[in-house]
Amino acid sequence: MDIVVLKKSASQDEIDNIQKRLEQKGLALNVSKGTERTIIGVIGDTSKISEEEVDSVRAMSGVDEVMRIVKPYKLASRDFKKENTVIDVDGLKIGGNRIHIIAGPCAIEGRDILLSIAQKVKEGGASFVRGGAFKPRTSPYTFQGMGEEGLQILLEAKKLTGMPIVTELMDPRDLTLMLKYTDIIQIGTRNMQNFRLLLEVGMVDKPVLLKRGLAATIKEWLMAAEYIMSRGNHKVILCERGVRTFETATRNTLDLSAVPVLKQLTHLPVIVDPSHAVGRWDLVKPMSLAAVAAGADGLLIEVHTKPEEACSDGEQSLKPDVFNDLVKSLRLVATAVGREI
Ligand code: PEP
Ligand code: MN
Repeated sequence: MDIVVLKKSASQDEIDNIQKRLEQKGLALNVSKGTERTIIGVIGDTSKISEEEVDSVRAMSGVDEVMRIVKPYKLASRDFKKENTVIDVDGLKIGGNRIHIIAGPCAIEGRDILLSIAQKVKEGGASFVRGGAFKPRTSPYTFQGMGEEGLQILLEAKKLTGMPIVTELMDPRDLTLMLKYTDIIQIGTRNMQNFRLLLEVGMVDKPVLLKRGLAATIKEWLMAAEYIMSRGNHKVILCERGVRTFETATRNTLDLSAVPVLKQLTHLPVIVDPSHAVGRWDLVKPMSLAAVAAGADGLLIEVHTKPEEACSDGEQSLKPDVFNDLVKSLRLVATAVGREI
């Protein structure tokens, strides 16, 4: 069996009994206590559990339903949890009706510039500030990020603007450090299948923004989310950021159909990063509008006050006034699809 749905009226004793019975079978469990009812997810390979055994669990008192799930990702699937997951970060609810914008430079490059970008994106309508302190660069000889000094600057920006922080973690050895600063841990494209890293962030109580791998299928991406969730951290936000194709006019190809596909397959919030997808600032606006129309719960947009001097990704970064204009248009699209920004 894969998922045991308990009756609304199930008592704690009944729940304990069911848990004990499953644990005696050597199964690992993931208990999710919803507002309505408790659901027990059975982790691992359950294909060898006989139908008789499933029936006997079905008959236990307190059990409403036992469902077998054929999808390889279980905790991330809509079969496991019907209602959308809403992740609360400092009172901002990701996955709810409001669309959130995460904005800031690719990398934290210095105190003054970061603080000024943070203030500008806040004025423009962003609700989270971003910036990389550890940068996954293709070349080892280019700017690698400011490390902890950068995180300190980001924290200063949070204090100044009140916006929570999103920043990338590349190495499990930096996790403890990162937890002191960030509100959302970003796992970058190049690390989507860094399974040890996924398991580590699965063990902390901090939302994880999981970007899609450069050439990852939606199924592989959901399996990566499952790695995180299997360790207990269910606060996963999926971020479509374009995939690699034969096209060279854009940096990557933004797979917008991934948004409605994910909405069917998973209850997790889905956001879109048009900046890394197109790699050109002039295409960020149309693709952002399209992403909101397609049902995205948020956007991740790179903004820089001096894109021409940026240490990384300047060519895809919006200037603050362009960002302001974009958010104005986004509000219209959001209203049209029954959402707000
Ligand atoms: C980034 O957000 O700056 C970044 C490196 O993104 P990605 O992992 O999508 O390339
Ligand atoms: Mn970048």
